[in-house]
Amino acid sequence: MTRPVILQLDRVTKQFPTSSTAAVEDVSLTLAQGDLLALLGPSGCGKTTLLRMIAGFEPLQAGAIALAGRTVASPGTWIPPEQRSVGMVFQDFALFPHLTVAQNVAFGLQKVADSAQIKAKTAEAIAQVRLQGLENRYPYELSGGQQQRVALARALAPRPALILLDEPLSNLDVQVRLRLREEIREVLKSAGISGVFVTHDQEEALAISDQVAVMQQGHLEQLGTPEEVYHHPASRFVAEFVTQANFIAARQQGQLWQTEVGDFKLPPDEWLESESGDLMVRQEDLLLEADPEAAVVIRDRHFLGREYCYCLSTPSGKELHARTTTAINLPIGTHVQLSVPDQALRIFPTNTPKLAKTL
Ligand code: ATP
Repeated sequence: MTRPVILQLDRVTKQFPTSSTAAVEDVSLTLAQGDLLALLGPSGCGKTTLLRMIAGFEPLQAGAIALAGRTVASPGTWIPPEQRSVGMVFQDFALFPHLTVAQNVAFGLQKVADSAQIKAKTAEAIAQVRLQGLENRYPYELSGGQQQRVALARALAPRPALILLDEPLSNLDVQVRLRLREEIREVLKSAGISGVFVTHDQEEALAISDQVAVMQQGHLEQLGTPEEVYHHPASRFVAEFVTQANFIAARQQGQLWQTEVGDFKLPPDEWLESESGDLMVRQEDLLLEADPEAAVVIRDRHFLGREYCYCLSTPSGKELHARTTTAINLPIGTHVQLSVPDQALRIFPTNTPKLAKTL
């Protein structure tokens, strides 16, 4: 059974008056009820602008935004933020410092007239983010992670159709970030509330979301599940940004693609019109074998606890990265033969630098 659509963007476009290019251009996507969508991309690609348009803080120039089947923004329609049934969680938590946890959460319920209902909904939201017992504390008496949970509870309390999270974890240290990202997913899933969150952290986007929208320069480069985006990047940009893979210049010679580090065979569904291209090799797919005759050398090695990250140097001086289990323990300076399972290889057109637009 197909689930109802909670959010629909249809060719959404926004250009700020002071800018010569669009911040968001022609973005279309659909989010199913209950799903979590990550807007992922480098700084300045338009993620926050798109989120703010969904929230109702920015008007759009062209296209349309529909929430639960109702058009909330289009060139002829404007539903104000407070009537869109969206909750917002900000990067800096945005809690009121002079209000307690319970008062901050209840603030989101101003439209509820019945004080018993406000109390019940506040308690429910506080329980959802597991902050019972801290109701009477002030924000300064909480850790960063707890403050962000209060902000999440405040957004959840009115039971909006959609929660928008703008880099909610970026002000937290890494341990808290890892734990809280799981909690956010768990809380939204168990409440059955859909979410859109902005991040520039690939791992965070892949870990937390059901759908990932990868953006570049205002455009949507790819929309897919984390697995689709990781294993089948639609463009060279997605491959580089999401998987941080290695790219090795290659030239086709019969069945093989020749590179300075060896010859490789592509899986049958991979092909390129041109005879030369760049082979994409994910860091975890590179297999290393010590061989004094090999031309690739281990230049550096980082122990990451669960794995090693090897920095390799090719004969032309190019740097490649490989991630292996700690069972592969090769010292710096070792010459290594590289191999890659055929199925893991992808080929992309050679990355030619974009020509600057003529002024
Ligand atoms: P970051 O991760 O750094 O927050 P982002 O992907 O969220 O970046 P946006 O903040 O959406 O990017 O910005 C997209 C583009 O629009 C950028 O070029 C930015 O400079 C521009 N922009 C954003 N807000 C405004 C504004 N109010 N006026 C003019 N230009 C703006």
